[in-house]
This record gives sequence, structure tokens and C-alpha cells, in this order.
Amino acid sequence: MVSTASEAEERAVESALRPKNLDDFVGQARVRQQLSLVLEASRIRERTADHVLLSGPPGLGKTTLAMIIAAEMNAPLRISSGPAIQHAGDLAAILSSLTEGEILFLDEIHRMSRPAEEMLYIAMEDFRVDIVVGKGAGATAIPLDLPPFTLVGATTRAGLLPGPLRDRFGFTGHLEFYAVEELELVLRRSAMLLDLKVSSAGFAEIAGRSRGTPRIANRLLRRVRDWALVHKIDEIDSSAAAAALDMYEVDERGLDRLDRSVLTALITKFGGGPVGLSTLAIAVGEETETVETVAEPYLVREGLLGRTPRGRIATAAAWQHLGLAVPDHLAA
Ligand code: ADP
Repeated sequence: MVSTASEAEERAVESALRPKNLDDFVGQARVRQQLSLVLEASRIRERTADHVLLSGPPGLGKTTLAMIIAAEMNAPLRISSGPAIQHAGDLAAILSSLTEGEILFLDEIHRMSRPAEEMLYIAMEDFRVDIVVGKGAGATAIPLDLPPFTLVGATTRAGLLPGPLRDRFGFTGHLEFYAVEELELVLRRSAMLLDLKVSSAGFAEIAGRSRGTPRIANRLLRRVRDWALVHKIDEIDSSAAAAALDMYEVDERGLDRLDRSVLTALITKFGGGPVGLSTLAIAVGEETETVETVAEPYLVREGLLGRTPRGRIATAAAWQHLGLAVPDHLAA
């Protein structure tokens, strides 16, 4: 895929803003504490760390944590992802070239093919891969020992991982959406690195619209920076931040265009539900997985959308948020 200059810039800024160690990593206190213990114990035992599974919605810091793990363990990091591993052979090539103590980060691990998954079970447990040579009746498996390594798997959907794979991780950390105050800390650090002047109220305004997600907070900060540059504003206050973000269609609750189109479809096309997830996804022209892993978790957390056995429903707060009269059956 050819990326545009702005995507390339986006990635460059994102990597510049990534915290490099656990102390700089804001929030997620429990995961940070548990992970720090896992790493410390492995240093004391002089062994590679247990395999780590990180789950949670996109942009909450899974890749960042994998990089921090490698830095804290002073180990090289190899990065790949489930969709990039279509054949067991793709995985065998990666595994057989790992060096001792290396950290292997597999993003979207739930999207790996089944044969690759089975190869990974054995590699994780016994540090071995069986390379199949030949085809049909003449095929033979040649076992190849691997140096001990640490797998860091990331998934937006821990529930989709087969049990045997989940069980082979020594530590599982679930990342939660960030509180507004935590996002303010993320933004303060980024503003300092980008050499931007923002007032406290300005930080609060951007943080409140960041969907509980550091990646979005950093992205909005850059949009606000552009707006301030064009409007020749030296220090970004809350009204500058609000004006800029209104222009980019990020509302005061942090809902973006996808979030709002999910709620709007749910209410205007299906009377507020219940409606099945895949029907809802078709109505907004998105992949089911995008609606389920990107839009839904935040809408549920904000109390705007409910999951019921019969399908998705819009809550009274969703009708209110879109400026619509709450139907009688939802009005308390
Ligand atoms: P994921 O892999 O979960 O999609 P990333 O690790 O790529 O998310 O994080 C996206 C961006 O958000 C990173 O570039 C980083 O700058 C920022 N970020 C994520 N988590 C934190 C955090 N806890 N503290 C500070 N910045 C963070």
C-alpha cells in the first residue's frame, strides 16, 4: 500500500510521542504494576520473560507497551501482525530467525491463520517449530529448536482467541479507556515535545474529546496545532481548542463521525433497536469488526449503546445526545 505524505508524517509524529519506558507511560496503573513485576522477576531469574497478551481497543498503548518491554529487557524487538502471517511458513520464517531473548510482537494476533496458530502453540511452550518438508504421504516434519524468546501478543478482541492460545500466555493485561485527567497528562507531555503552548483549560477541552484514547488525544492535539497556526494563535485556550475540534467534527463528548453514524442509524433506521451487529454495520457501510472493536466499546462505556441478547440498542442518553426526543418506553 502506498502511503501519503501526511500518513507518513502521522506515523513519524506518533513514534516521536511514544513513551520509551514504563515511568513515562501514563495511566493503566494495574497493568503497569503487574508488568513491571513480571519483567523484574525474569531479570532476577535471568530468564526470558513470560509471554504477554495485551488486549483492548485500538490506540490505548499495546504497541507502545511491547516496545517498552523490549527496552526494559534490553532486548531486540521484532514486529509482525496476524494478517501478515497467512501461512504457517510465514511464521516459521520469523520464529527460526529469532535470537535469544528477542521480543516478538504480534499485533492483531486473533487474525492469524489456524495452521500458524497451531505452530505458535508449540513454539510458545516448547521453543520448537516443526518444519514440514515435502508433500502428501512423503511429507516429514523436521523439528527445529528455537532460542527462548518472549511473545507479546496484542488483540482488540481477547474473546476471539482460542483457549489453547490464550492459556499459553503467562500474563494477560487488559487495557482500559483512559480517564480525562490521564489524557491531560498525555497531552501535556506531547505539547512539550511538540513545543506547543496550551492552557490548562485547553488541555482539558482536548482531553474531554479524545474518546478515552491517547492516540486520538495526540491526533487532536495536532489538528488543534494546525488550526492555531493558521489563525495565528500563540497560546491554545479552551475556546480555540473547541473551535478547532468543532471544525473537525469531533463533538464535546468525543464522538467522531463513525460513532455518530452508528447511533444515528440505530435510532433513525431501526427505531433505537434491538438490531443485530452485522445489520447495523451494513447500515453504516462499515466492516462488522470495525463497528464492534472501534465504535462500540466507547459508546458502551459512555452509556449511549447497550448490548442485549437480541441485539444493539440506543439508550435514552443516545437520543438526547443527538438532540432527539426520548421515546416513552425509554423515558424513566
Ligand atoms: P495500540 O497498539 O494499542 O493501537 P499504540 O501503542 O500504537 O496503541 O499507541 C498509540 C499512540 O498513543 C502512541 O504513539 C503513543 O504516543 C500514545 N500512547 C499510548 N498509550 C500511551 C500512554 N499510556 N501514555 C502516553 N502515550 C500513550
